[in-house]
Amino acid sequence: MSLIVQKYGGTSVASVAHIESVADKVARFRARGHDIVVVVSAMAGETNRLAALAHEVMAQPTPREMDVLLAAGEQVTIALLCMALERRGHGARSFTGGQIRILTDDSHTRARIREVDCSRVRDQLGQGNVVVVAGFQGVTEQGSITTLGRGGSDTTAVALAAALAADECQIYTDVKGVYTTDPRIVDGARLLHHVTFEEMLELASLGAKVLQIRAVEFAGKYKVPLRVLSTFEEGPGTLITLEEQEMEKPTIAGVAFERNEAKLTVKGVPDQPGIAYKVIGPVSEQGIEVDVIVQNAAADGSNDISFTVKRDDAERSLRILEQVAPSLPAQSVHLDTKIAKVSLVGVGMRSHAGIASRMFQALARENINIQIITTSEIKISVVIEEKYMELAVRSLHGAFDLQNHENGQ
Ligand code: ASP
Ligand code: MG
Repeated sequence: MSLIVQKYGGTSVASVAHIESVADKVARFRARGHDIVVVVSAMAGETNRLAALAHEVMAQPTPREMDVLLAAGEQVTIALLCMALERRGHGARSFTGGQIRILTDDSHTRARIREVDCSRVRDQLGQGNVVVVAGFQGVTEQGSITTLGRGGSDTTAVALAAALAADECQIYTDVKGVYTTDPRIVDGARLLHHVTFEEMLELASLGAKVLQIRAVEFAGKYKVPLRVLSTFEEGPGTLITLEEQEMEKPTIAGVAFERNEAKLTVKGVPDQPGIAYKVIGPVSEQGIEVDVIVQNAAADGSNDISFTVKRDDAERSLRILEQVAPSLPAQSVHLDTKIAKVSLVGVGMRSHAGIASRMFQALARENINIQIITTSEIKISVVIEEKYMELAVRSLHGAFDLQNHENGQ
């Protein structure tokens, strides 16, 4: 007998009929003798619907109240799923994040989990009940409801699995697992049977929206065996493993992309110590996540600094830069929202030379201009004009033959 944490995303609980089939699935696992903790998202579209209501009332909803509102979505699903399980003769208990004390910090709408108290969950499991937990939410020390950021139910599931030392954390979703790239963009995208945590982190953060990035970080840190699989189709899905366990290391795991970014450029700042800090510091201090950063020194002793942020944060970042510009001083500040980032990801890059040049060659063949290049040990990213994103993804997938090899060698 083992303990499994299962998470069902919004599309898996999109209607009462969907919730009924999730209940059937959970019941089958129970029948095999497993202890089951289920984490559910809000019904598909519900979080968006609630957020839209808030925006009708207030252009910039108060984060604390936004959390009270958004957390309601998951509370609906836990109750319905428990009812469906009870009707099938299974004991089931629902809990909100606050009830089981998923303790978070107080950064509303993007809170981080500090601690999970498993005693009530263990208690219920001990009594033979299925435990159904609302994803995406927690509670502060002071008792305020928080949410963990969009897609946060994944993180709830992993945090619970870690805290309970579960045998496996299964993330059920509407795709069969993690692919070499988005199958909607590339027909030949192939399901990966294994991917390492590091690769998954890059694939998730760069836009392969299967798992919330924080969930992958958490799972890697606490070594939680994590599997992504389909609610609707049978299959083993993708197992996310530690690199040491990976026998055959493919060179490239996949091609990730992100179109939700914007590029800010500060032109003509003095080439002096402290300037990068004066530019990036005020942006970070506002809680805005800065991604790719490049700085180019011109011959005349001035610098241009460009960086990317989430598109939602673009206008705010621009205002911050316009405020600091006179004190730098900077010649000008620019915002470009029509960019995309495309990345090649693979732990095998560590031991293979020439990957970057092959990548640039493929993009050159399509006449795609590269605006920014960044690299890490296991990834090469380029920022390009948004309209070429799909073309870039397709050409890279083809150039590295990812459709054909089980291991993308
Ligand atoms: N319901 C939340 C969202 O739509 C959390 C989740 O589904 O993971 O982002
Ligand atoms: Mg999700």
